[in-house]
Amino acid sequence: MLRPVSVLLVLVPALALGDYMDHFAQRDDVGPRKVPYLGDARLLLIPVEVKGFPPFDRARLEQFFSPDDANGFVHYFEVASLGRYRPRVTVGPTLSYERCPLPEAQFPGCRIARGDINALTGGMDMLREAVRKTDEAGVDFTAFDVNGRAGAPDRWADGVMLLTNVPFGGIAFPFAYFNQGTPIVADGVRIPHLAIAGDSDLFVMIHEFGHLLGLTDLYDETQRYAGLHLSFMGSWGYDPKVVLPDAETRWRLRWANWIQVQGRQRLTLKPVETSGQIARVGVGDEYFLVENRGPGEFDQHLGVRGLAVFHIDRGVKSVTAQGSFPKLGAKEGDFVNRTLDCVNCDAWHPYTRLVQADGAFELEAYKPFRAADDLFRPGTSLLNDPSSSIRSPSNPVNASNLYSGQPSGFALNDVRLLSDGSIEVTLDAPPAGQCEERLCPEGEACAPVQCGEPPPKTGCAAAGVEPAAAALLLLLLEQGLRRRQRR
Ligand SMILES: [Zn+2]
Repeated sequence: MLRPVSVLLVLVPALALGDYMDHFAQRDDVGPRKVPYLGDARLLLIPVEVKGFPPFDRARLEQFFSPDDANGFVHYFEVASLGRYRPRVTVGPTLSYERCPLPEAQFPGCRIARGDINALTGGMDMLREAVRKTDEAGVDFTAFDVNGRAGAPDRWADGVMLLTNVPFGGIAFPFAYFNQGTPIVADGVRIPHLAIAGDSDLFVMIHEFGHLLGLTDLYDETQRYAGLHLSFMGSWGYDPKVVLPDAETRWRLRWANWIQVQGRQRLTLKPVETSGQIARVGVGDEYFLVENRGPGEFDQHLGVRGLAVFHIDRGVKSVTAQGSFPKLGAKEGDFVNRTLDCVNCDAWHPYTRLVQADGAFELEAYKPFRAADDLFRPGTSLLNDPSSSIRSPSNPVNASNLYSGQPSGFALNDVRLLSDGSIEVTLDAPPAGQCEERLCPEGEACAPVQCGEPPPKTGCAAAGVEPAAAALLLLLLEQGLRRRQRR
């Protein structure tokens, strides 16, 4: 299975780009590798109906992809992004097939085997044809390019999805990668990848579209444990109780209001669903993210509210990814390795790990997530382990130490739940050097909204200083900061 991939790698020209699901190890490849994740976007859904399988309920389909469905695709992404990403979906004309459009030899009974990203290469003609037929039916593909890396049309589609009534788990398929770098083109608009899901399992499309946005899988395909909870790219039921993004995903997508902690700070974190607030402790490739999670419009599977603590290590990459690209194996084609040997498959040292308040390490043992035990709530804390031992199954120490065992400077104490759903907490971070990092060179959410304690505001002297400080901050921001396969 790996062999055809390595052959393809030779054929694809070397590009200074990442790939389409590298979780923003590369950020500049919106267009060829990712769809835009900010601003207004126009997405196309192509329904492909095969005779002999349950027919589409068009009304239900259009409802799920309309902005009016409180639990639908559009509202999900609008809420998850704090309104920063505003997709609108057109459900294209239903394409009807008398028989399965996939070659019978590779797809007996029209079924697509789970766990084989190469399987769909046999279906590439069908994908090409689905776009051509939709074009011929009068759909103008230029209407689906209103956004791009610079927020304007760029001749790359804002996002194309294909839904089939054939039982099918779902996949985000990088057509161009498997087509020697050449995307599908319709009306001059290039389509490099498609999110594909089965109608019987509509919620899977939210996850598959996440791949088009640039996100990798955060569940454990090998089933040694469930993978990351509290993430639509991780472990959830793919049911109507849709889960919000994990803090790392939200932060990388620039859907967060990022508070960088420096020194000891008492913070009030509002529910992340409506505030986007994420507290980050630590800098570089290994750090902690803290957010307030609980049942709201989404996350309804959470019975209670508390602080979710994520331990991030961007250094984790797929074990089989060779070469010099650090951080999730960002080079073209590494998504194959990330799928086969995923970045979140090691329960004890994944890319994104949910630190559990009860310290029982039940998630690592493939036991269920329980918000009441696993979120940080009043009476819980997270401290440094002074022995600096390395955490492992034989040494299950619930502490804030880095994976090396070294102290991180992170501590979490004195959690207090307020009546409006906000949570007060005392966080410790290293006392200095925390405020310089930027997620991206410029634009919304590239920089923390706050780093360290804000300067005290006292009397009229301080009031006079404020406009100057604000101007200085703006100047600083402008100058210094130019930097599934499921089922
Ligand atoms: Zn996936």
